[in-house]
Amino acid sequence: MAYIEMINSCKTYHMGGSTIYANRDVSFSVEKGELAIILGSSGAGKSTVLNILGGMDSNDSGKVIIDGKDISKYSRTQLTAYRRTDVGFVFQFYNLVQNLTAKENVELASEIVEHALDPVTVLKDVGLADRINNFPAQLSGGEQQRVALARALVNNPSVLLADEPTGNLDPNNSWEIMKLLEEINVRRRTTVVVVTHNREIVNAMQKRVITMKKGVIISDE
Ligand code: ADP
Ligand code: MG
Repeated sequence: MAYIEMINSCKTYHMGGSTIYANRDVSFSVEKGELAIILGSSGAGKSTVLNILGGMDSNDSGKVIIDGKDISKYSRTQLTAYRRTDVGFVFQFYNLVQNLTAKENVELASEIVEHALDPVTVLKDVGLADRINNFPAQLSGGEQQRVALARALVNNPSVLLADEPTGNLDPNNSWEIMKLLEEINVRRRTTVVVVTHNREIVNAMQKRVITMKKGVIISDE
């Protein structure tokens, strides 16, 4: 059975007098241990999908089945537990705490979960062995995103969701972050969903690509 299954998921936003159809009947599934990419231009509805998968937003209708359980039926408390134990999330702008070191940023995330991995080991795993005591401002964009990745991995999540993780990086660093996501996927068998608008990177990755446009999936190959 698929690890992630979204079935006819719909989400609308209401702004002033108008209705925005952010997701319309979005259906796709991702197998356990798979790496899938959601591609689409700005406003296509990609972040809406990812936020719903990560339990950070809820849909209006449709099922969101993760590991056999429909999280769209979860209470707030259940969603909080789901986010803590099952999900790792990476954002475009890293969202690190500026006055904490790399190690402290990862420790902070590890403190709220029961079976956290060792922060230093995870930082070494993402290639930051000699950067653990640096503050975000002392790190390059690529290094900051690695810290964010370590933070996302420290709870040993079964699913890693990355929303435009390379959106703020140059082509070299972008490629390295994508390769790192792939390595995590292969080595840890973590199910990974990456959102991007960068078609070049997607073509180079040779992975499953779900393309979205105006709230709808237009291809899945
Ligand atoms: P993408 O990530 O592909 O750029 P989003 O999922 O962020 O797209 O947004 C899809 C659509 O929903 C866009 O038109 C966006 O403006 C709208 N939208 C997203 N979040 C909100 C919100 N909180 N309030 C109102 N409109 C929103
Ligand atoms: Mg987005």
